[in-house]
Amino acid sequence: MRFDVAVIGGGPAGSSAALFLARHGARVALIDGRAQSDFSAGESLSSMARSLFARLGLETLLVPHFTASGGLSAWGGPDPLPASAVISPYGGGWHLDRRKFDADFLAFASDSGAKVMKDARYLKPIQTGLRNTLRVEVNGEFIDVVADYIVDASGRRACYSVAHGARRNVTDKLIAVWGVASSTCLDKDDFTMIDACEDGWYYSARISDRLRVFAIFGDGDLLDLRSLRTEIGFRQRISLSTVLRQKYTQNAYALVQGPKMSNASSGYMTPPIGDNWISVGDAALSVDPLSAEGILFAVVSGHNAATTLLEIENGNGNSAFMYADFVRQHLEEYRSKRRAYYRLETRWRDSAFWERRQLGNSSS
Ligand SMILES: Cc1cc2nc3c(=O)[nH]c(=O)nc-3n(C[C@H](O)[C@H](O)[C@H](O)COP(=O)(O)OP(=O)(O)OC[C@H]3O[C@@H](n4cnc5c(N)ncnc54)[C@H](O)[C@@H]3O)c2cc1C
Repeated sequence: MRFDVAVIGGGPAGSSAALFLARHGARVALIDGRAQSDFSAGESLSSMARSLFARLGLETLLVPHFTASGGLSAWGGPDPLPASAVISPYGGGWHLDRRKFDADFLAFASDSGAKVMKDARYLKPIQTGLRNTLRVEVNGEFIDVVADYIVDASGRRACYSVAHGARRNVTDKLIAVWGVASSTCLDKDDFTMIDACEDGWYYSARISDRLRVFAIFGDGDLLDLRSLRTEIGFRQRISLSTVLRQKYTQNAYALVQGPKMSNASSGYMTPPIGDNWISVGDAALSVDPLSAEGILFAVVSGHNAATTLLEIENGNGNSAFMYADFVRQHLEEYRSKRRAYYRLETRWRDSAFWERRQLGNSSS
């Protein structure tokens, strides 16, 4: 199978790149290895998405999802305050059902002309003499996909870029232990909840009238993962949060998925673009979920990568450099915002988690 571009990964970054390439007439294959039935982590979308999605013609993607009227955040002190009062990254935005959002985005890419290969997994490059031949497993069968350019949208794994000489620089050890819980009671509370604690921070957001995500974020080497990964241990730990406890116990929430552990580290790829390949989304730059900017960056970088490849094809030699510059600028802005958020919390001066973030050098 021969294409102009093969996109590895069907998250928001891959769908965005595939959609904009296909809209401009490129023949695109999108290889998506996601298990469609699973919930994915990452549902808070900041209000900045409103203008971005409108500008890119993607606003209908947001219609089925809950709007969040704000946040309740115990950050810098024990009392939960409306998020705006503590300069929280979460203003009013959306709580996405990521299963639906990601599936709708893939369908958009497909409607624009991209060939979406579901339940497909890129395995390795194949030496055939043809440029960029990818061995892909689809439903137990192996096929070879040949493309002039590869978009690495495989998330933090960045499987293609790393295998082709790029380096993923990981700047912290943040992980999330999270679960999706269901309640028999109606839950109308649409605030994003954040509660700082000695070894990290708790998070909760509603994704439907009866489903809610609960999570604790901390450094993988500091949290008691053995206990947290059991249902009882996770529940006990969430109950320590004054902000989340009431929600979890009074609404009689019970886990329907998890507790799961996810890598939530910040990191960036050097270089983010190489010979015939480009990385997008988390593969290019992964940010702390506290910033609620991961999905936004995935969408913007997917769009910019599509523009970059189209310009390279039209002979604009500068566009690869401009894409690398776009990722670098985003990284710098993100670092300074992240430092500012973490420095607002000064209660645990002896805690390794906070010390790493408050005293960290400028590259962390
Ligand atoms: C716990 C947690 C909470 C988060 N919370 C938020 C939040 O509230 N707000 C926010 O904006 N961001 C949040 N994020 C970040 C956000 O989820 C990511 O930034 C976003 O999903 C990145 O999109 P992506 O398309 O780059 O990668 P992903 O969404 O990770 O998609 C990558 C895709 O590539 C596929 N893939 C990987 N390898 C292969 C392969 N070999 N072959 C085929 N497919 C492959 C994977 O199956 C996956 O479907 C959170 C992240 C974590 C871990």
